Amino acid sequence: MDLKTPIKNLGGIYKRYCRALEKLNIITFGDFLYHIPSRYEDYSIISKIDKVQEGEIVTIQGIVTDIKNEYTKRYKKIQKAIVEDDTGKIEVVWFNQPFLVKNIKKEDKISLSGRVNRYFNKNIMESPEYEVARNTTNFDANNHELIHTGRLVPVYPQTRGVSSKWIRRQVYKIIQEHKQNLFEYIPDSILKDANLTGLFWAFDQIHFPEIYENIDKARNRLAFDELFLIQLAARKRRVDWEKNLIGHPFSISKYKNKIEEFWSKLPFELTNAQKKAVKEIYKDIASNKPMNRLLEGDVGSGKTVVSAIAMYLAFLNGFQAVLMAPTEILANQHFKTISDLLTPLGVNVELVTGSRKLSILNSQFSILIGTHAVLSDKIKFDKLGLVVIDEQQRFGVEQRAIVKKKGNNPHLLVMTATPIPRTVALTMYGDLDLSYLDEMPIGRKKVKTWLVPKEKRQKAYEWIKSQLSRPKDDQPLAETSQAFVICPFIEESENMQTVKAATKEYEKLKKEIFKNIKIGLLHGKLKAKEKNDVLQKFKEKAFDILVATPVVEVGIDIPNATIIVIEASERFGLSQLHQLRGRVGRGDKQSYCLLFTETTNTQTVGRLKSMERIYNGTELAELDLKLRGPGDIYGTVQHGIPNLKIASFSDFVLIEKTKKEAEKIFPNLSKYPLLVEKLKSITVKNVSPD
Ligand code: ADP
Ligand code: MG
Repeated sequence: MDLKTPIKNLGGIYKRYCRALEKLNIITFGDFLYHIPSRYEDYSIISKIDKVQEGEIVTIQGIVTDIKNEYTKRYKKIQKAIVEDDTGKIEVVWFNQPFLVKNIKKEDKISLSGRVNRYFNKNIMESPEYEVARNTTNFDANNHELIHTGRLVPVYPQTRGVSSKWIRRQVYKIIQEHKQNLFEYIPDSILKDANLTGLFWAFDQIHFPEIYENIDKARNRLAFDELFLIQLAARKRRVDWEKNLIGHPFSISKYKNKIEEFWSKLPFELTNAQKKAVKEIYKDIASNKPMNRLLEGDVGSGKTVVSAIAMYLAFLNGFQAVLMAPTEILANQHFKTISDLLTPLGVNVELVTGSRKLSILNSQFSILIGTHAVLSDKIKFDKLGLVVIDEQQRFGVEQRAIVKKKGNNPHLLVMTATPIPRTVALTMYGDLDLSYLDEMPIGRKKVKTWLVPKEKRQKAYEWIKSQLSRPKDDQPLAETSQAFVICPFIEESENMQTVKAATKEYEKLKKEIFKNIKIGLLHGKLKAKEKNDVLQKFKEKAFDILVATPVVEVGIDIPNATIIVIEASERFGLSQLHQLRGRVGRGDKQSYCLLFTETTNTQTVGRLKSMERIYNGTELAELDLKLRGPGDIYGTVQHGIPNLKIASFSDFVLIEKTKKEAEKIFPNLSKYPLLVEKLKSITVKNVSPD
């Protein structure tokens, strides 16, 4: 078998383990090498039996003179052994591992690592790691063959059914057997320039380090590779992709007057950030290479109107455009916005969703807005020139590919409100052009944010009540506010547990807290139509509070909602909190975000407190990265950013360094066939051109 062999293709024990291994992201044999130890157990002190001290963690090596199962009073099986070396003997016990007497036999040479405890004046080694040397001359002076004892021992992230010890054996075997396959693909010049160790050495030492200092060096080499290869692969894809592509340059100057008219009809002035993004898009779509641009901006920063001008230009140039959004609610919302803007200018805008089927659809549209429904085979375009994808992280690579194939190299504009730090975006999206809307439309009030500790919770409820209470008959309904209550974050994807938590919260609020207030419930297990109904009712003010799970409905627009309460806010990342906060403050009324927490941990409180003072999504994302590390934030399907295995997005220095090296080598890439070959195995899982 080679390193690329998928484990599920193998028989025997692997077949049984492949599911569990998949959970650890180990799909092929080679993936074992990238399963990096989470820590190391230091068993490197080898002691003679007469020298061991109580409480010490040591390794002893000797001959087994006795081993047996014993039944204690409490009917528990314990395994007792006596081990001797030339200085004395020691008792060893394990608990509930009756099979041990099959693995360890009298007369075996054994190496044991673990803690020594003292009972009744006797040293006893309790539940040590063990390694038997039956047919080998195992622990020689250098202990070279030991992997579980007598050295720095790697401890691996494990999962049910796959132990760290088992993984350790696999990794060891692979390193031994595949020495010759772990060829060096990084050119010497870079190794020298970036001060990197060899590849085999790095794998060997990150898993089985001789000394602690080697771990950092090895990790550094592997982290370099990870970032370097991603960047190089992204660059290469971009160039390969552009090579044979002929896009459809849109003329802009020809339609100057029409464009002027579009701008003059807007009820507001564009922000500078919007103006800049528009300019960047103009430049892209006027070129004969298809545009491939990511428009990133906080909720409410005004991405829609920027995409609208691009769609209008497609229309003016005789092309069709499509805008795909992840939910029906969003699609409806976009349909309304875009129709309001463009119908008066003579553009035929159509909508297709799960509830609005093809049959009623006018096939003469110039712009089609829709959900996944636009992907259907039945939707055909005569001349698709522009694809816009909103909340792009909610779509898979395949879906993006399908919609693009409906045209002949259409321009692509993807949008997201996920605040990704610039460094991350540049690494992950190396093949995309970026526009940032880092500025909010003027006049938009900041969502006042408060952290609400346990003792203030009751008061907060009272305050919310006062904000929501229905007006007296003579007051217009529009004066009341509405509130979201977001339930604790439990898991990334919506499961039954999440639904239960939301339902419980809903019942509690209804019965105990907000007795006279109408409350609705929204969670991901509702059908699309049910969700729509709930939101529609909320919009129509049929109820005042909407209890919702965290993952539902990005970007919904309920201008009258001015309060958002987030339960157990400590479970969320700052970026997530910021996105949730963006659901209010969409009208012109002052809005509020209440972060409930029961925690008193000063660090956590400090982290949450930053929400009270920082209102910039990118800044919060950077802070999140610093405080919690990338795993928590980016290891999520929701954000569509793959988890780095070794490197970290917070390592700005290494990101810079790898970027520099990637740029330098790129023009001469073809001179390094091993590197080119290696790049083939790198998939950049994101919005890259397909
Ligand atoms: P998002 O970036 O979250 O998609 P939208 O495009 O939905 O934001 O815009 C949010 C709201 O802000 C909309 O009601 C839109 O009409 C309004 N808006 C957009 N740009 C501006 C601007 N420059 N000035 C004032 N309001 C704006
Ligand atoms: Mg939007």
